[in-house]
Parts: sequence; structure tokens; C-alpha cells
Amino acid sequence: MAQENLKDPRHMYREEGYPEQESKSPAVQAEMTPLPDCGEASYQGTGKLKGRHALVTGGDSGIGRAAAIAFAREGADVVVHYLAGEEADAEETVKLIEEAGQRGKAIQGDFRQAGEASRVFKKALDFLGEIDILVLNAAQQFARKSLSELSMEQVNDTFQVNIISMFEMIKEAEPHLAAGSSIITTTSVQSFEPSETLLDYAATNSAVSSLTVSLAKYFSDKGVRANSVAPGPIWTALQLDGGKLPGELEKFGQNSLMKRAGQPVELAPVYVFLASEDSSYVTGQIYGVTGGQNIDL
Ligand code: NAD
Ligand code: MG
Repeated sequence: MAQENLKDPRHMYREEGYPEQESKSPAVQAEMTPLPDCGEASYQGTGKLKGRHALVTGGDSGIGRAAAIAFAREGADVVVHYLAGEEADAEETVKLIEEAGQRGKAIQGDFRQAGEASRVFKKALDFLGEIDILVLNAAQQFARKSLSELSMEQVNDTFQVNIISMFEMIKEAEPHLAAGSSIITTTSVQSFEPSETLLDYAATNSAVSSLTVSLAKYFSDKGVRANSVAPGPIWTALQLDGGKLPGELEKFGQNSLMKRAGQPVELAPVYVFLASEDSSYVTGQIYGVTGGQNIDL
């Protein structure tokens, strides 16, 4: 019997696959059909992050935007980092942060270039005064059918953006992370079940998972926690500028136990939990938000 106060998770968001669509690079969320749901109209805060200061890399769109909106509505000031070409998405996210009554700013940086991640951290720190929530979420994903199509330039860039930039940012951040601060990385189910078309991307995801566990140990003496989120198939811009092979969008997410793709907003509560005091006894963990796919190291 259906109860009015219960929502069936299979039917809470779009259940069909997604239409093939042209996209420029980087893909801009504002031009997607349908638009991802980052909680713009739905996320409600309860003051869990009052007085906190967050930097979210790749926070203009998708999962990063969902975390940024939720952090702001929970009372944090938020800087979102973005890539050139994503100005429209970044400005929209800053507007949403300000509408939540918090300070917000967007800072551009291309992590393919060494030194950019540390520059972005310094600029964010200048604006926020302190940083006690660091979300390392930016990544590039380009699917290739064969090794011959995978250039070494792509391999280098994917490692530079997805993992090496994390080292850079953490090194810059270390002296500024006070006890109580939280580091949150975004990894992927690809870390645990790597696919044959995402050789470089999946390898960086495994590195991100491993780094997170190391960071939890390294920072434990300082009272800083480090955890990771492993999304499954989530409807974001990442899928559009080469993240998927042609024809894959039509069935995107249909193989999950929920038989649908997830929306970025469905990850927001996990980022809030990991950022807040609610997770005071949680460090070195990886949280799967996968629609059912099991994750295991
Ligand atoms: P997204 O495209 O909305 O966000 C990724 C962001 O990464 C971009 O907005 C961009 O700002 C940033 N980025 C890309 N190239 C960059 C570069 N060269 N320099 C600096 N920043 C760059 O997509 P998303 O799905 O929200 O991705 C967020 C995170 O989630 C990524 O780490 C991704 O690997 C991970 N993830 C996503 C899925 C999914 O199905 N969407 C699944 C597993 C993991
Ligand atoms: Mg984006």
C-alpha cells in the first residue's frame, strides 16, 4: 500500500535515458537537455555549516554545484572553482550562494597547467579568510574505444587534472587547515570497477581513493578528516563533451538497481554530512552514491 509520506526512490527523478546532444568543450550545464537537478529549487538547509568556509573545485556545475548550493544553504561561505568557458554556470552558482545569504565567488583555473591548483587555493583563501571545507571534485573524462585513440597528451592531462592537482592543492592547504576541517574528494565507481573505455580516467579514480585514505592517516594528528564520495551514473555535463561514447546516453543509468541515472542533488546530503560535525567519527571512508552498484577496495 502506498503511503503519502514515502517516496519511491525509483521514481523520484527522471527514469528514461538521455538524448544525444551536441556540446562544446568544456560542456556547459546551462545548455543541457534536460537540465541536471543540483537542488536549486529543493535543497533546504538547517544550519549544519554555520560560519564555515568552503572551496569546491569544479563547483560551477553538476555534483560540485549541488555541494556548493547545499553548503551555502547550511550557512557556509563558498568559493567555486571553474574552467574557462564555464562562466555562465559559475556565475549562476555564485548567484545561488548569495541568494542563500552567504558570500560567494568564482575563481577560474585550468588544472592541466602545473601551479594552477595552488594559485586557485591562495585566491580562495584571500577571499574567504580561512578554508575549513576543501572539496577536491574537478575532473576530466574522455572515453576512447581503443588505445590507439588515446593520446599520451590526454593521459597526461587526465592525471594532471584529476589527481596531481589534488596534491598541489593539499600541499598549499596544509598550513591553513585547522582542527575540525574536512577534506572531501570525489572519486568514482570507476575506482572499483574500471571500464575498458576509460583507462586513464579510471586509473586516476583509484589514485584518488587511495590518496584519500592516506590523507586521513596523515592528517589525523591535526584533527582534520578526509573522506571521499564515489558517484555512480549521475546526469552532469561530464557525460557530454566526450565523457561517453556515442550511443551510450540513451541507456545512461538504466543498469543501476534504481534503473535510472542519479541527479547531482542526490549527492548533496553526503557532502554536507562529511563536511559537518555530524561525521566527527568518520575519516578515511569512501561513500558510494551509485544507485546500487557495490563499491569495495
Ligand atoms: P561536471 O562536468 O559538472 O564537473 C566537473 C568539473 O571539473 C567541471 O565543471 C570543471 O569545472 C572541472 N574541470 C574539468 N576539466 C578541468 C580542467 N582542465 N581544469 C580544472 N577543472 C576542470 O561533472 P560532474 O559529474 O559533476 O563531476 C564532478 C566529479 O564527479 C568529477 O570528479 C567526476 O569524475 C566525478 N564523477 C562523476 C560521475 C557522473 O556520472 N557524473 C560519476 C563518477 C564520478
Ligand atoms: Mg562545469
